[in-house]
Amino acid sequence: MSESSLVGESSLKKPAQFETILDLLANITKKSAFYRDKFADLDLSSIRSWEDFERLPFTDKGDLRDAYPLGLQAVPDEDIVRIHSSSGTTGLPIIIPYTKRDVDEWAEMFARCYEMAGVTPLDRIHVTPGYGLWTAGIGFQAGAERLGAMVVPMGPGNTDKQLKMMSDLKSTVLCATSSYALLLAEEIDRRGIRSKIHLSKGLIGSERWGKQMRHRIATELGVQLFDIYGLTEIYGPGIGISCEHECGMHYWDDYLYFEIINQHTGEQVSEGEVGELVITTLRKEGAPLIRYRTHDLTRFIPGECACGSIYPRIDVILGRTDDMVKVKGVNIFPAQIDEILHEVEGTSSEFQVMIDHLEGRDVMTVFFETVEGASIKGVEAAVRHSFKTRIGLTIVPKAVAIGDLPRSEKKTNRVFDNRY
Ligand code: ZN
Repeated sequence: MSESSLVGESSLKKPAQFETILDLLANITKKSAFYRDKFADLDLSSIRSWEDFERLPFTDKGDLRDAYPLGLQAVPDEDIVRIHSSSGTTGLPIIIPYTKRDVDEWAEMFARCYEMAGVTPLDRIHVTPGYGLWTAGIGFQAGAERLGAMVVPMGPGNTDKQLKMMSDLKSTVLCATSSYALLLAEEIDRRGIRSKIHLSKGLIGSERWGKQMRHRIATELGVQLFDIYGLTEIYGPGIGISCEHECGMHYWDDYLYFEIINQHTGEQVSEGEVGELVITTLRKEGAPLIRYRTHDLTRFIPGECACGSIYPRIDVILGRTDDMVKVKGVNIFPAQIDEILHEVEGTSSEFQVMIDHLEGRDVMTVFFETVEGASIKGVEAAVRHSFKTRIGLTIVPKAVAIGDLPRSEKKTNRVFDNRY
């Protein structure tokens, strides 16, 4: 029996996790200079309950950036075997040091992801995310090797070579971001080489992607898709994945403790409600994190999954707290834009939004790709009408042809706020 079945205990708060957290707190200020500073005014020994724990201050990206380069390191130098770094778009990057055990356990979690997706040692795993400072490529590779499958370590770019290797080596599993998977799917279709492709599964990075895009990738590549979750600050990708039932993502609660909070108040939301995911690492040595704000929006999915897994679930990532834009007093998430477009006949999966301040007022222009043969004027009118009725916002619709909007190998930014 798993501890989750204990009467009176939510499956999301297991006694074993709390024991681990108490151990972590008992040692953290001895080991980590970062937390010694951060928790200087707190008496950690007074923490006796989940409620006490939930009063601890959050750790945020800015704190991690301030610790550049190695301020997060919580073990002696000889125990660190590798670093990874987040792609800092603004200012300093965040550097995360890993011990041998961190690297091993990350591979273990990632191997679990592959197993949950039904990948076996007979599979050939085509890895397109980047290698190097980024955690993605090496994470996908280490997990596959742990499982015992053959890795084709492509990294991003060079579509000709990607497709040649994919067909010659008969790759069966594609690991990619959603936008790169879409780019490859379109290329395969354009070149008419679908019969040479042997893919049966796609493991797609945690970038938020719409139903329409999912459907296109799945049908054009002829694969079953799995959402894989992770972030550099917490190991990297591989800390959670969807199962064959496609009802959220299971995450590894023996390594990580998840909370979902109201991003404005910092309070826990009620189970099932959308909020910001906050993660505490239970076993990480090199750079343990307590109550780290991911800025990813999701919700807990209550109840047991049809697949029978003991691991709890969060929904696929619904957006980022920092993606939210306010236009003419209306709060908008990229996920909503995607949803509205999805409901209008003639639109395809890609879109881009520009928000400008022109002649004293905010103007939101929505560029979207249309399916072949759609009436441009008709679709634009329908999109304008949908935005007006669904969120009360008058927008400028601009229909473009399929392939006109950028696809990238990394995460795609779809909303550009040019007002400030
Ligand atoms: Zn499941």
